[in-house]
Amino acid sequence: MDEPRLKLAIQKSGRLTDPSLDLLTRCGLKISRGKDQLMAYGENMPLDVLFVRDDDIPDLVQEDVCDLGLVGLNVLEEKRLELAARGHPARFEQVRKLEFGRCRLSLAVPQGASFEGSSSLRGKRIATTYPFLLERYLRERDLHAEIVTLSGAVEIAPRLGRADLICDLVSTGSTLQANHLREVETVLESHAVLIRTPLALPPLKDEWVERLLMRIDGVQQVRESKYIMLHAPRAALAQIRKLLPGSETPTIIPLEGFPDKVAIHAVCRETVFWETLESLKKAGASAVLVLPVEKMLV
Ligand code: ATP
Ligand code: ZN
Repeated sequence: MDEPRLKLAIQKSGRLTDPSLDLLTRCGLKISRGKDQLMAYGENMPLDVLFVRDDDIPDLVQEDVCDLGLVGLNVLEEKRLELAARGHPARFEQVRKLEFGRCRLSLAVPQGASFEGSSSLRGKRIATTYPFLLERYLRERDLHAEIVTLSGAVEIAPRLGRADLICDLVSTGSTLQANHLREVETVLESHAVLIRTPLALPPLKDEWVERLLMRIDGVQQVRESKYIMLHAPRAALAQIRKLLPGSETPTIIPLEGFPDKVAIHAVCRETVFWETLESLKKAGASAVLVLPVEKMLV
């Protein structure tokens, strides 16, 4: 019998596509994908990638078409609230927070308009493509406002007279600025997440989900990590260890022919700045080498 294959949904074309493919590549997945193909075959893992609109990703996991999905928290939470409103429990679980797709769902007012805290929202018309997240935000603050649900082009709604303010995704704020809008409150901080079906999977599939999760953790850990090597006077060991950022257990090696010196090798899990290297040198370190870490399994 053929080995069962995992199905993972990612965005077909948009902001999440490249970072999603990059993550999968770093996890060691090789896929063959023809142009405009909806599905790509994982050549070295029993995992196939489906390319879809991001809004469809939670549904595909919900309906058991896919086992896994990479999607923005904004889309996921909106879907969860929508399902709850219709009396359906969500059948997807968030299993990893990812480092890409950072943005926020924010309220923005026309540049000239006044805004004095969320009470200024009372009785206003707010345009959004996220009616359920906005409704929850208003409900939690006991505010009544009219939600104008649009399917896109939210940022021009105030100029068209369709709304007084908007609730939309922002990352740098340049789109808001270009539309003469001013960000005033955050409704949701968002980033990409990995979701999976809560259903039990056959053991072989389950094993691959675990392997994938472990690889994702490894990928996320090495992003900032550096391997640092240096020589240090034994007398300065304690001070130098304190200076190594995010490294709990460095390896200390004697140096042949130099009884009062040691070599220190350490994995630093935080960015190593020039300032750190300068402080290390001041403390007596020499022959300092900082190398990128390619893979890590802990
Ligand atoms: P699709 O055709 O797949 O529906 P889309 O237009 O809904 O595409 P994109 O604009 O590519 O989607 O955004 C996809 C996701 O990227 C968003 O849901 C959000 O999680 C994330 N994102 C990050 N920064 C931003 C931003 N500045 N504006 C919009 N989305 C952002
Ligand atoms: Zn979308």
